[in-house]
Amino acid sequence: MKRYLLTPGPVEMPDEVYRASSKKIIGHRTEEFSDLFESIQNKLKTLLKVETPVVILPSSGTGALECLAVNFLTNKDSFISASCGVFGDRFREIALKTGAKGIFVDFEMGTHVEPEIVKDAVLKHPECKFLLLTQNETSTGVLNDIKKIIAAIPEQKRPLILVDGVSSIGTMECFPSEWGIDGIATASQKGLMTPPGLGIVWISEKAKRYLENNECQSYYFDLKRQFKSLKPDNYSNPYTPPVTLYYALNKALEIILKGGADKWFNDHRKFSHAFAAGIEALGLKMLVTDKKYRSTGVSAISSPDCDTEVIRNKLTEWGITTAGGQGDLKNKIIRIAHYDDKGWPELAMILSTLYAVLPAKNKIKDNFLEKPLMIYEAEEY
Ligand code: PLP
Repeated sequence: MKRYLLTPGPVEMPDEVYRASSKKIIGHRTEEFSDLFESIQNKLKTLLKVETPVVILPSSGTGALECLAVNFLTNKDSFISASCGVFGDRFREIALKTGAKGIFVDFEMGTHVEPEIVKDAVLKHPECKFLLLTQNETSTGVLNDIKKIIAAIPEQKRPLILVDGVSSIGTMECFPSEWGIDGIATASQKGLMTPPGLGIVWISEKAKRYLENNECQSYYFDLKRQFKSLKPDNYSNPYTPPVTLYYALNKALEIILKGGADKWFNDHRKFSHAFAAGIEALGLKMLVTDKKYRSTGVSAISSPDCDTEVIRNKLTEWGITTAGGQGDLKNKIIRIAHYDDKGWPELAMILSTLYAVLPAKNKIKDNFLEKPLMIYEAEEY
């Protein structure tokens, strides 16, 4: 029986991406590899609207975040960390490992990071050289407005802004250079629809200048060493890269950019809005009540009347793998991701399966697919 993987990473990949990753291996010191790497760089530059290349590391998202931390932070530094969930907390834990001191600005799970509160913390703590943010809080399905948070801080007072883009890049707008981000980390297995194993880091020119006087605490993750290998006429890595994952990433980026990134982002917005309408029509609840801050990559569903773990186990039995809650939300929510290229047929299938597994007393008899279909068919979002 067919199974669907709807966890927020790893995600199901288009068939072309699977096929690309099974191509014959090539040497990583060859012109062919350098061309492949250049093709990836060009596509990532288009996706992120940046001028300068990214560093690609053989790691998961946590490794890419650690790369930012060990390059920028030392035990003499302080940082501000704004968090509204498990991954915001994790980014700060990674930063604390460097010995730096943290000022924590916390928001309740299910709510978003408030720009004005972050601005006040930054103005109150001019000693903090860094601000840590998470764009898409995967543990709750909250999409933070990074552009607005940064814009709220007067430019001359801005610390270096380091962002966790692990579960946002690829699916939703993320324009680091335009928004004033100084360092951002992501991974291959979510919005980029590639197998797990690649960590991606981009930093601003201001951040590069800052690093000139910083000694990185890691040999492998040293960004200065990594950038030295990214020569415009010969893109390479200082150490052996996972070549087959590069094939897969190149193909996935080609798919994302084929009709224009804007269309891709809009299609995901449309899917997630229709999905939320379906969830509510079923009598379930979206954890994030403020629609403006709902993630377009992952939805967190709560249920006032029935046990979410019962629903989740039944979904697994029926062929749909989802994720549960983390931290304080353990056993309280179901997380369903929509990072890949699914459309209406799959949306209707997921909602119908959810309906089927709901306990009989919770079933609503109305045509619950009508509302999401109306949203799905609407042109404006
Ligand atoms: N940050 C965010 C926002 C995430 O969603 C995740 C994983 O779900 C991570 C960091 C950690 O990434 P990884 O599991 O690839 O190390």
